[in-house]
Amino acid sequence: MYIIGHKSILLAKEMAQEKCPNCASNHSVEIEVFQKYVHFFYIPYLPAGKTGVSYCSNCHQALLDKDMPANLKEDYQQLKAKTKIPIWMFSGMVLMILLIIYQQNHQ
Ligand SMILES: [Zn+2]
Repeated sequence: MYIIGHKSILLAKEMAQEKCPNCASNHSVEIEVFQKYVHFFYIPYLPAGKTGVSYCSNCHQALLDKDMPANLKEDYQQLKAKTKIPIWMFSGMVLMILLIIYQQNHQ
């Protein structure tokens, strides 16, 4: 059993403006932004950075953000900048803070 672990969820998905770097077809590449987070006993604790993947529906090429060509990476960076971290990812930390406050008020 894992007490502390990592998970990631899909945050955003968008059609890239750029052509596919592999098959050069238009409007076939989709960019996805994933948010990684640390969980503690399955309670999301802290967000831990974003990752991205591009996927071409025409040639099925998938690229990780670090492997994307510059033009795709730019699309990814823009999408990433628009995506906010969901507040529930801090729930473990909020819970911990509440617990500390509670304990201090009851001593
Ligand atoms: Zn392609």
